[in-house]
Amino acid sequence: MVPKICLANPAQGLKQAILILITAQRKVKRMNKAYFKRVFFEEQALDYPVGKAMYDKLKVQGYDIGLLKSHNRVTGIPGKSARESFFQGKNTLVVGVRKTLDFAPCKPSAHFQLPLVTGCQGICEYCYLNTQLGKKPYTRVYVNIDEILAQAANYIQQRQPETTVFEAAATSDPVPVEPFSGALAQAINFFAHQEYAYLKFVTKFPSIDSLLDLDHRGRTRIRYSLNTDRIIHDYEHRTAVLDERIQALSRLLEHGYPGGVIIAPVILEGNWQEEYGHMMDKLAEALSAYRDIHFEVISHRFARKAKSNILDVFPQTTLPMNEDKSRSYKFGQFGYGKLVYNKALLQEIKSFFTDAIGRHFPEAKIDYII
Ligand code: SF4
Repeated sequence: MVPKICLANPAQGLKQAILILITAQRKVKRMNKAYFKRVFFEEQALDYPVGKAMYDKLKVQGYDIGLLKSHNRVTGIPGKSARESFFQGKNTLVVGVRKTLDFAPCKPSAHFQLPLVTGCQGICEYCYLNTQLGKKPYTRVYVNIDEILAQAANYIQQRQPETTVFEAAATSDPVPVEPFSGALAQAINFFAHQEYAYLKFVTKFPSIDSLLDLDHRGRTRIRYSLNTDRIIHDYEHRTAVLDERIQALSRLLEHGYPGGVIIAPVILEGNWQEEYGHMMDKLAEALSAYRDIHFEVISHRFARKAKSNILDVFPQTTLPMNEDKSRSYKFGQFGYGKLVYNKALLQEIKSFFTDAIGRHFPEAKIDYII
């Protein structure tokens, strides 16, 4: 876009033009940039055609690539403090061979995790992976995709004629590395031919061009995780802005994919009804022509351990984590509890989103509001 300079007030016009240019540059950077500063390959990964192709692609893009004996023993990521270790880990990509082919369960939204990628280059302050992937949370991409999908076929066969659902984003956001790995494309092609299974994943990134023209046969549901402009700006660093996410979802729906929206985490700050109302208006404007959209709404919650990790890495965070009257303690299925919004606030969230979704998308399915 060419910024227009205001001739009546050149100084202000110039300021405005610079702001537009910065925003446009940031947008391009968010859309295309992989933030990795270092890349490691497990030696064995180079024996796989996918690994070799990724290696060549990354080399052409100018990455220095280190070799590793095992992707589980990654030395060479710097970091003295918790904060530095965290950011250096986020800047690191490791390509390896997935050894464990037992898929973890993924209740309640799917039967199994589909382990194509672990980790994410995004830096969301509240992300639950921040407490799951160690002090240096690097992104791991697996090259033995054929073996992983063959294992998925075993699980499907064991459960048929029941339908088996796989989630490819349980421990990652797999989309930002898709231009390197092509793993999602391969999985989508595989699930297109499975009568008794389907695939789903969720993302905050727009690099879905390579998925658009696949013959997916409606067996992969792609959901976008959305939030208000302010929450994305304040807490979801290195992810796409709201408009880019909505635009990417709209393109997927246009190409016949079943779609979904996850509104999470819903944070009750400031004039939250107005801000989420504005988000829903934008969504409706872009997507109201589509019927097959599922909604999932998840209110903000935190575990005490996560709070302490978040404060180590983001000491200035403004994430609301006060243990005051707005919160209740809820025991969870994994043996530790979380602080969730109290009953009255949860009810407000439920009423607000039931009404907003019903009004804008009368035919959409609300999977849950929690
Ligand atoms: S995009 Fe998703 S997986 Fe990545 S940091 Fe944010 S919440 Fe975590």
